[in-house]
Amino acid sequence: TYIVTESCIRCKYMDCVEVCPVDCFYEGENMLVIHPDECIDCGVCEPECPPEAILPDSDTEAEKWLELNREYSETW
Ligand code: SF4
Repeated sequence: TYIVTESCIRCKYMDCVEVCPVDCFYEGENMLVIHPDECIDCGVCEPECPPEAILPDSDTEAEKWLELNREYSETW
């Protein structure tokens, strides 16, 4: 799965949302998030993100944002 990280905060360009084939982006409190169970790991959103906030979950920086992505996807 791919994960939205810190650089997204107050960015919200939404380019990623438009390219996602399964619509798994959700709006969190001050950033966008990806629902980790809905993401099909296609990777098309990653290069579309201007601040490079989207990372694969294999990235150590992304790991700590995983639970927040899940939480915001389900509560906002
Ligand atoms: Fe959507 Fe693909 Fe990005 Fe996952 S990797 S959030 S499915 S565009």
